[in-house]
Amino acid sequence: MTKYQHYIDGDWIDPEGGLWLDTIDPYRGEPWAQIARGNSDDVTRAATAAHRAMTTGPWATLSASGRGKILRNIGDVVAKNAEQLAEIEARDNGKLLAEMHGQLEAIADCWYYYAGLADKVEGASIPVAKPNTVAFTTREPIGVVAALTAWNSPLWFATVKSAPAMAAGCAVVVKPSEFASASTLEFAKLLKEAGLPDGVFNVVTGLGPEVGSALVEHPAVSKITFTGSDATGAKIYETAARSMKRVSLELGGKSPNIVFEDADLDLAAAGVVSGIFGAAGQMCTAGSRLLVHSSVKEVFTEKLLHVARSIRLGDPMDPQTNVGPIATPPQYQKVLQYIDIAEADGARCILGGKPATGPGLTGGQFIEPTIFADVTNNMRIAQEEVFGPVLSIIEFEDEEQAVQIGNDIAYGLVAGVWTKSIGRAMRMSKALHVGTVWVNTYRSYSYMVPFGGMKGSGLGREQGIEAINEYLETKSIMISTDDNAPANTFVQR
Ligand code: NAD
Repeated sequence: MTKYQHYIDGDWIDPEGGLWLDTIDPYRGEPWAQIARGNSDDVTRAATAAHRAMTTGPWATLSASGRGKILRNIGDVVAKNAEQLAEIEARDNGKLLAEMHGQLEAIADCWYYYAGLADKVEGASIPVAKPNTVAFTTREPIGVVAALTAWNSPLWFATVKSAPAMAAGCAVVVKPSEFASASTLEFAKLLKEAGLPDGVFNVVTGLGPEVGSALVEHPAVSKITFTGSDATGAKIYETAARSMKRVSLELGGKSPNIVFEDADLDLAAAGVVSGIFGAAGQMCTAGSRLLVHSSVKEVFTEKLLHVARSIRLGDPMDPQTNVGPIATPPQYQKVLQYIDIAEADGARCILGGKPATGPGLTGGQFIEPTIFADVTNNMRIAQEEVFGPVLSIIEFEDEEQAVQIGNDIAYGLVAGVWTKSIGRAMRMSKALHVGTVWVNTYRSYSYMVPFGGMKGSGLGREQGIEAINEYLETKSIMISTDDNAPANTFVQR
């Protein structure tokens, strides 16, 4: 069995406490590797190494263009090793290999993108209305960044956090999910070849309450960037507030996918199905609430059932598979519990609703693509994130009601709008309180486009040019050019 140590200061290191955790292949339902179960000593080692790297190491004095060149090398080594990285992650969390291929391409490109941005971080010269005074700003790296990531797309999360952080001049300690740490560690193996100085990128693994919380509390850490559940995000926010650490949070969603009567219903049905059943619904962006106009509800539901019934569950490595297993045992139990809750609350199951069994599905945790009709927006199945292949159908009468139901939720991550009217698309995009609106498409991502949540879905933005600001502090500098000015005055000038 493969054994993964921590990656700290350019070295592979056993956990201080001598403990290891199994990591499970969710398709076969059996352990395939072990990861280090770290403790606070391991965290101190990693955070100290990162702090040293960005204050006294070669990273601290490297020019911005120099950092950009190294980030470009990282893109190259990722591209060269894409197949292996894709296979490791698919094995570790059950994500489709076909989807990982696309993601790896985007991951390499994301490193290139932030490589190009590294030397375009500029301050401003400010024409202050004061005599003999020059005022300008500089942008400085925020400090050591702790990146805590979820199990559903660990390498993507590590990339969209680390690439802008490193472009800004920061050093990073990544704490991947204990359920899927392997791809982040395999990535770390490539960094020497890319020429990254030791200590700039570190990985410590283990349990959230042990390693994750120690990292959040560590005094050498200045910024926490987190992707995961609302409950953990809130805990981290509270802890970070005590020492005024900066925080970005990418949390959950309960996103509306809104189908109007004037939409291309075939296109919309395909989009709604992939928006909730893709990745077995284990996406923060899952379009788990289908809002459909009452006049097309029956015909659209038929189309939806037709597409959903054609889904092939199976081995994530098989290119014919559309949907793989649920990644973790607790997540599997949670999805089944929500199916029971929906039924108890009066929702009507019109597809699936059970564990999926059959040839090729024996080892893993599979759940049938599940659709509930007759859902009202106040039911728990409409309000709470399931993070699984469960869709709720809610009917609306007009645009105003679609907006009202769409926004009547604690979350605000994404929304889908299906319509042929450009006016309606524009009105809906403005009215929905979400970080991203997709019109006549869904699950359309790009590292160039800012991503993040409003309301309970989080704080801050990842991706795009904007993301680099999450890793910079602005410093204002004001200089008197009057050599004869008094050094001190009690009168404000
Ligand atoms: P989680 O909160 O259980 O874990 C996320 C990370 O935090 C893991 O690395 C975990 O070990 C760590 N952690 C757990 N407890 C901690 C603590 N007390 N202190 C510090 N760290 C701790 O989430 P998960 O189950 O891995 O991921 C699923 C959740 O992630 C879903 O709710 C989903 O919506 C969310 N998610 C959000 C996005 C987004 O971009 N908005 C993307 C994917 C997933």
